[in-house]
Order: sequence, then C-alpha cells, then structure tokens
Amino acid sequence: MQLERLLKSHFGFNSFRKGQREIIEDVLEKKDVLSMLPTGAGKSLLYLLPGYIFDGSILIVSPLLSLMEDQVEQLKKAGEKRVVAINSFMDPGERSRVLHQLSKFKFIYVSPEILQSPFLMNKLIHMKISLFVVDEAHCISQWGHEFRPHYLSLSEARRKLGSPPCLALTATATEEVREDIKKQLEMKNVVCHIHSVDRENITFIVEPFFTCDEKMERVKELAKILKGPGIIYTSTRAWAENLSAFLMESNQLKVAAYHGGMETHDRLLIQKQFLNGQLDCICATNAFGMGINKPNIRYVIHFHPPANMEAYVQEIGRAGRDQCPSVAILLYNEGDKEIPSLLIEHEFPDENQLIELIQAASLMDKERFLQWLEGYGISSTAKRFIEFQFEQEKMFNREEKTKEQLAIVFQTILNHIQKRKQYKLNKLDEMFHWIVKKECKRRGILKAFGEHLTYKNKNCCTICEATIQPFLNHKKREPDSFFQWEKELHYIFSRVT
Ligand code: ADP
Ligand code: MG
Repeated sequence: MQLERLLKSHFGFNSFRKGQREIIEDVLEKKDVLSMLPTGAGKSLLYLLPGYIFDGSILIVSPLLSLMEDQVEQLKKAGEKRVVAINSFMDPGERSRVLHQLSKFKFIYVSPEILQSPFLMNKLIHMKISLFVVDEAHCISQWGHEFRPHYLSLSEARRKLGSPPCLALTATATEEVREDIKKQLEMKNVVCHIHSVDRENITFIVEPFFTCDEKMERVKELAKILKGPGIIYTSTRAWAENLSAFLMESNQLKVAAYHGGMETHDRLLIQKQFLNGQLDCICATNAFGMGINKPNIRYVIHFHPPANMEAYVQEIGRAGRDQCPSVAILLYNEGDKEIPSLLIEHEFPDENQLIELIQAASLMDKERFLQWLEGYGISSTAKRFIEFQFEQEKMFNREEKTKEQLAIVFQTILNHIQKRKQYKLNKLDEMFHWIVKKECKRRGILKAFGEHLTYKNKNCCTICEATIQPFLNHKKREPDSFFQWEKELHYIFSRVT
C-alpha cells in the first residue's frame, strides 16, 4: 500500500499500469532488472518512484540530449527540483556549479559520453548511487538498431561506482539484443520483465505505390485529412526537408523538419514546438522521437520504410501514448529498398578505405588519428565503428605493429564488417518481407519478436481490412491558420534571439 501512496503523492496517479508494480518491487529489492515494456507504458516511473525510497541518488544514462532535457523539464514541472541533466551542451559555468553540489541532486541524467569524464566520475564515486539506470538499453547492443560504442564502457563506469543495482529499460529488443544487454552491463542474477511489444490501440496500414510522385500525392492528402498531430518519417535528411516544405506549401499546414544535421538549438526548438502543440506535423528522420513523451500523437506515417522491424516498432510506438486509437501508415514503392541498403553500405568503410585507415592509425597516436579521421570521407557512423574497432584491436597502445599484425587486424575488422553488414541486410529483408506479406500485420510484428498474437482490435490492419476512417479530421481548418503560424513563429524567434 505504501507504494500506492507514493504513486499518488509524488505523481498524482491512482494506480500502477500493467507491469509497473512488480518491476518496482524487484528494483526495491536491489536486484538487477531488465524490463522491456512498450513505448508509453511508463518506464520512467520504474526508477522515479524508487528514487523516493532509496536514500542515494539515481543515475540515469540516457542516449539523447533532447530526451534528457524533456525528462528534466517534465520532472521540474511536476515539482521535483533535485533533478539535473549533465551533457556537453551545458555551458561550462553551469556545469561546474552543478558538479560542485552534485550530491544534492536525486535524479542525475547523463549521456554515456559524458560519463567518461574523469572529473564527473570522481564526483560520482564520492556519492551514494542507489540505482544505475540505462534507458533505451538496446543502444548497448551491437545488434541493436541504435548501436553506440560509448555504451560499451557503461559496465566499467558501473564497476567504478561500486556496482550499484542496475535497471535496463527498453521498448524493443529481440532475444539476441536482450542477451547482449545483460552481458554488456554485467548484470548478475538478473530478473527480466518482458512484456509484449504489441500496441493494441494502433491500427497498421500499408499502402503500395508505383512511383514516388504518387506517394507524394498520397502523403499530401493524408496530412490534410488525418487528425493530427502526426510524425512523417523519411529515410534521409534531404527528404525530411523537401517533404516539410512541400506540405507547408501545398497544404498550408504547420509543418517543420527535424534531422540530425540541424543545429542543436534548432532541433530543441522544433521539438519544443511540437510538444507544445504548435505544429500539425513534423517531417523527420529517425533522429527524432526516441523517448519523446507526447501523449496525443494520432498518426505516424512512414514515407520511406525503416531499416528493420525494431526501428519500425519504436517509431510507430510514438503514436497513441495516451492509449487512444491511433494509426501507423506505411507507404512504399518498388525502389524503396535502395536507400536503406545504401545507408547500410555507408555505415562501414570499404576494403580500400580500411587499409588506408589502418595505415594511418599505425603511424599516429589516438588523438592525432581521431583528428585526422574527422576530415576523412566516410560517414560518422563508419567513423564511430572504426574508432571502436581500433580500440578493440589495441591499435593505439603505442607498441609498433608488424606488417603481419596489421594484416591480422585488417582481416579481423573486415570479418566484423561483413558479419554486421549481412546482419543488417537480413534485418532489412525481414522488414520488406513484412511489408509485402499477405498476413495480419500485427501478427507479423509479434512474430519478429518471438511472440504470438492473442488479441486483435477491431480495426487491426490492412490485411484485416482496417480503414483510416476513424482517424480523419472532421473539424474544418481555419482559413487563416497559416498566417497565424507565421505570427507564432515570429513571436517564438523574437523570444529566442
Ligand atoms: P515510456 O518510457 O515507457 O515510453 P514514460 O515513462 O515516458 O513511458 O510514460 C508515459 C506517460 O505515462 C507519462 O506521461 C507518464 O506520466 C504516464 N504514466 C506513467 N505511469 C503511469 C500511471 N501509473 N498512471 C498514469 N499515467 C502514468
Ligand atoms: Mg522512456
């Protein structure tokens, strides 16, 4: 009963949602816990509530700046002042002020990168950390769709802190990824709470097209007739911008683009506008949305299919967090597999580049090599991959390597590249297989995560003859809304500049 009282007094909720209570009880018993609950299920509560019972602080490793800022803002709004996010975006004065009184904070959000900072670690070591939380834990796994090498040093960080109990949270992890998370975080006697990835309130629609132009026409129509707000995912930054401009012009909608190539300030601003309900829809790459807590997103459209089922489930999961009916619409045409296949190619250096990179690394120390790598013509993902592999192969440990040793390093890394590439291409095949297969879409998603279908809503999916009728906007748009939008923009910019 005490838990219910805390739930009410700190969060204003009357009852726990499915799964929350059991997981919190395990966390309170100081067990290592891995929980997989669908997006919107309420995973933050799993560490927030124990925060009010444990006497030490809760350290939360979170993958995205925007996500951290969002969480901190929500907690502050709810009256919790002892909360802070430490990241590279903070101005130095503020950071030093925070670090000097770090133990005053109950909830400390950090990025995996900042956790490498010896100064921060030194502060943390001298504090009591009651719980080590890893949010979006699938990022740890090299088989996860958001793989981040820095996440691999989390186990070391945890050890330095005296191995506090660990809580790993994710919404989408296949069996393979879950095993990897446990291993990478060195979780002992771990208790797993694995819930279905199914989102019962989401209807799945898949529509095929012959050409991209037809698809543009359809997305224009959908953005006009669907009840928003919504997200439209594209596979490239250029497409996010094109589509946003196209919709703004043709539909007079309040649309903005969001992608990783934009300045951090702009991204945070767009995210805020979207969260505040100032945008009808956002055209974004997969850089947008992780952990975003906007309850009333009514539709998620994929203008391009994502690269794997896990990414798809994460992205559509942003719809209908308020549990109200919402729709996921995927549009595709014949050539759509090309972009993701190319993107997968670009995530790795090719053979000649690998030879060049190994030669360069054998002549430089780590710092110089990384500087040199900055200007080298491969993608940032490929750069991260190389840095990580070279670290693993001890390329920077000052001992000169013989030709034979370098050849072995080359072969080892090349094998890794081939294995990872093949894995990703298989995942892409699985995604496209799901798109075209004449089988209930919900059943197909569950299968990909090793589950069976037990429940179907009435408006299930394209194959089960669902329609988008319930998701149409019946309200007439105000004719001058575009100009109001301009006014709003002007107002917003006049405040930030
Ligand atoms: P997740 O991380 O699982 O995607 P969040 O932790 O962001 O989800 O929670 C989603 C929303 O659900 C938040 O607005 C949160 O306040 C709300 N929520 C969480 N637990 C409960 C509960 N027991 N009762 C009502 N609302 C809840
Ligand atoms: Mg979350």
